[in-house]
Amino acid sequence: MDRYVEQEFRTLQGFSCGNLSDSDRGKTVKPGKGEKMKPKWTGLCLSLILFAMILAVGLSEGEDRLGFRFADAKEAAELLLSNRDYYDNLNQMDLDYRMQKKGATLAELEAHAAKQTRDFTPEEKDILTGIMAEIEQNCRLRGYTLPVMDNIVFAQTTMHEECDAMGYTHGTQIYLGEAFFEQDHANMLYVAAHEVFHCLTRNDPDFREAMYRILGFTVVEKDFDFGPKVRNAMISNPDVEHHNSYASFSIGGKMMDCAVVFTTRQPFKKPGDSFFTDMMTGLVPIDDLSFMYDSNEASNFWDVFGRNTAYVIDPEETLADNFALTVLYGPEGLEYSTPEIIRAIDTFLRQS
Ligand SMILES: [Zn+2]
Repeated sequence: MDRYVEQEFRTLQGFSCGNLSDSDRGKTVKPGKGEKMKPKWTGLCLSLILFAMILAVGLSEGEDRLGFRFADAKEAAELLLSNRDYYDNLNQMDLDYRMQKKGATLAELEAHAAKQTRDFTPEEKDILTGIMAEIEQNCRLRGYTLPVMDNIVFAQTTMHEECDAMGYTHGTQIYLGEAFFEQDHANMLYVAAHEVFHCLTRNDPDFREAMYRILGFTVVEKDFDFGPKVRNAMISNPDVEHHNSYASFSIGGKMMDCAVVFTTRQPFKKPGDSFFTDMMTGLVPIDDLSFMYDSNEASNFWDVFGRNTAYVIDPEETLADNFALTVLYGPEGLEYSTPEIIRAIDTFLRQS
């Protein structure tokens, strides 16, 4: 799921970056006052120049790489429930947290989800059209070539079906909540670019593999067949379609190849409970898929994920944030804690 509301909030407070202490690892990532990533003057100047260039060149110049359309409420409901791989694999905890009751059923969630879709207003469509044009223009001006993707579908929901996230994706469908349109322009651009990344990784497996390699993750052909203990503890995230990548983590002085999963230390008990209260990033050794380490146990966890974002529940989410930063601000635009990730994405997008 993209940006459950607390992560969203963190990012929207000013791209809070990963100057987190090791003790913050695996805990709910909330921004501290001192964690904001401040634009450098050079970055600001670059942004102003970029803005001037956008005005000069015009938004329509150049070839568009991202084709999109809007679904109305009826189509959005059909599209949403057509994502059977996702809905059919939700575990009991997924259902309980989403429905805020113990023993919730898939039928209940589906009925609930189908009622949450909305039509976009003409103004909202204009805003999104402008946002997508600006993402394209940023790419053109930076010399980036995104994989061609002409099948993005935007849909709107209340987000109540996904724990009040800001937005999330399935395939090349991007679901946004009303809260998206209440953000300032920079934040809307950021969230949209983040969501576009998820669509790109699904639409182009080579692009996904190349991006994951930047964080040191290897993608394998088949999804890992986690044991029941791991499967039942995982919180499903529509933005993470596949669990088929691993990286090497140092646990107990030993390097272990592990898959990354998102979970919570607190199972659902009563209405009002949130898995954010004690969320956890889990590491599952690929040679023992029945067991999960807390990411706090990996001494190199932040070396792997970098510190440009605290959204480190899965490489897909961390890379989506880094991609958005790269496309919108470039390698020089912000004072990054881990600039090498941004530089690697920048290099890839220039060469592709
Ligand atoms: Zn996401």
